[in-house]
Amino acid sequence: MRGAFNQNVILREYNLFNDEYKAGVMNDPSLSIQIPYLPDELAGLQEIALNLWWSWNARARHLFRTIDPYLWKETVHNPIKLLRQLTQKDYERLLKNEDFLKEYHYVYALFKQYMQISAPPIGETIAYFCAEYGLHRSLPIYSGGLGFLAGDILKEASDMNLPMVGIGFMYPGGYVHQVIGSDGWQKGENETIEKEIAPIEKVIDKDGNQLIIQVPHITPAVYIAVWKVNVGRISLYLLDTDIEQNDPWDRMISYRLYTSDMHQRLRQQIVLGVGGHAVLENLGIDFSILHLNEGHPAFALFERLRFFMENQNLNFQESVQKVKQTSIFTTHTPLMAATDVYQFDMVGSYFLAFAQKLGIDLHDLLSFGIDPANPANGFNMTVLALKLCEYKNGVSKKHQKVASQIWQKILEAENSKIEAITNGVHLSTWLDGDLEKELDRTLGSEWCEFQDDPDIWFKVGDIDELFIWQMHMQNKYDMLNFIKEKCRKKWAGGTIDPMVLLAEGILLDPEVLTIGFARRMTEYKRPDLILYDLHKLEQIVNNSSRPVQIIFAGKAHPADIPGKQIIQKIFNVAKDPKFQGRIAFVEDYGEELAKYMVKGCDIWLNNPKLPLEACGTSGMKASINGVLHCSTLDGWWPEGYNGKNGWAFGTDPSDDAKDANELYDLLENEIVPLYYDQNEKGIPKGWTKMMKEAIKSVAPHFSARRMMKEYKNKFYERIAKG
Ligand SMILES: *Cc1c(COP(=O)(O)O)cnc(C)c1O
Repeated sequence: MRGAFNQNVILREYNLFNDEYKAGVMNDPSLSIQIPYLPDELAGLQEIALNLWWSWNARARHLFRTIDPYLWKETVHNPIKLLRQLTQKDYERLLKNEDFLKEYHYVYALFKQYMQISAPPIGETIAYFCAEYGLHRSLPIYSGGLGFLAGDILKEASDMNLPMVGIGFMYPGGYVHQVIGSDGWQKGENETIEKEIAPIEKVIDKDGNQLIIQVPHITPAVYIAVWKVNVGRISLYLLDTDIEQNDPWDRMISYRLYTSDMHQRLRQQIVLGVGGHAVLENLGIDFSILHLNEGHPAFALFERLRFFMENQNLNFQESVQKVKQTSIFTTHTPLMAATDVYQFDMVGSYFLAFAQKLGIDLHDLLSFGIDPANPANGFNMTVLALKLCEYKNGVSKKHQKVASQIWQKILEAENSKIEAITNGVHLSTWLDGDLEKELDRTLGSEWCEFQDDPDIWFKVGDIDELFIWQMHMQNKYDMLNFIKEKCRKKWAGGTIDPMVLLAEGILLDPEVLTIGFARRMTEYKRPDLILYDLHKLEQIVNNSSRPVQIIFAGKAHPADIPGKQIIQKIFNVAKDPKFQGRIAFVEDYGEELAKYMVKGCDIWLNNPKLPLEACGTSGMKASINGVLHCSTLDGWWPEGYNGKNGWAFGTDPSDDAKDANELYDLLENEIVPLYYDQNEKGIPKGWTKMMKEAIKSVAPHFSARRMMKEYKNKFYERIAKG
């Protein structure tokens, strides 16, 4: 992995298809990658590769795969890397391949058509701020659920043609892969972003150099370089402090997600909020709606205050009103402890000059971050967002209630409320490709346009059960092959204890009922609930005629010792011969493994302690693929569960012993018998019926389309109307 960020080199390497290379000048020994010349006839490939639209268009994905299936796999589905690794001979071969050219022209036309549509349904630009985005593995600037939600929001905003622009961070050293040692202890392995093969473009200033902006209000000065990601029709701008204009400490600001050093974390959030606002101003993007996803970017609200005072001649109070009327805050946690709180002095030191500039008392500025329920606690980013955004929402109906209680005092003082907009998932991103095609046939090829209309989904009932089951079994095979290939690579490394491979799933069997549990490994999610009574579990897992297997995956936060201990506990159970290799812990849960698991498991287990799950979206991804959700009634599940599309269990308040026993009963009495009740063709009829029910009931209500329509109707349009 190449971690050196010599700007000159990157500049030259980055422009992978520039004129210099076109002319075939490739004899610069400083280049570590030889860059072929992309024939003019295929110039569109570069355009498609540099727009993540390809990642949610099945035909575009397929096009890249057909270029070289092996290389496609090797590059972990990164078209830029693929195009750069092809040789000149490969391109010549493609130019002679009629079928390929035909498909290329078709996909390129699709892309052009997609990009051309314009006529914003509302005329006001929405600036969307988030600390992380989960768009694709080739751009690892995410850690988990929050990022994938933000990624799905941008994709859906693009599909719906909402006038949105995104602001986020480039984390050059941001991604931590999980490695489990033979003792079951989690270790981290950092991945540095290879900027030259990431789907990013430099934002260029008038002199042809990468745009570099000074972050307002920070002294000594901190500079940010600006990158752009094309998410369909939406531009996402990424801020990068890892440039030579900054001293080492400043370079580290954007190096990694959510640093635990509180001072650096504060600087990170100032750069995101204040610097992000400055980038938009600098680019001349005149937005009128500010949408903050979580509290991390809330300092953008301060910068917005200044902007209105300076540009619209408002006094401070008027400006506060204006900021409130045009800003939206989405909160994602029901845990007060999960909010960022800084010492007043620390925040004050950065905003003293700012307050003076606005002609207000620093104390008045800082008071926006004071929680009336804990006034001495410090400056709370969530409180800042709650106070300065009139429009607020939680991410499920249940979370809305819980969040409204936690923040009751502020809501009363502000005379405002938290609304509920339940999360959804971007269907084209998370749906199985074969299922998508089948939906084209059964629901009509326009179904995607009406995806949030429950009526069109009734026809899912007509899908042949043989198709459903074969699709599902194929996905299960694919998942297990992926897991076993991971094991093979580890084994080939030469230093692995065979026991580790056993714990990581080499003995898994596609015919066996498979439970998946994959999410962040942390106490409140109770990953080890199903291990509560190992004797009982052994009976369930090792039932000779109706066995059950469980696949666990998920990372613990590096600082979360109890989370790491849970992983170790699971790993040790997985190693235990008593369980015959039917319990596995697969390392390094991320976007790629998630895509296999939410399609390939039979059951998607979720058992958080009530009411700590704000929403959860992996269960939605599973359900739309017919993977049945089995969950405690927390997050989105009270809205999603209809008695026929999965299972619900658990007590309120949560009681581990009772909950575990309910789960065992459910497995023994309902789930296992239903799965193994297979007809002479091997199809479990009752099961496939439930799969279809899950698809048709979850897809319309928990699609990103439904979610974005709610944001549009409840917030964007209300603000636009003034
Ligand atoms: C969807 C997704 C998440 C969030 O799902 P939860 O149900 O909240 O765990 C996290 N990680 C990955 C890789 C995902 O795809």
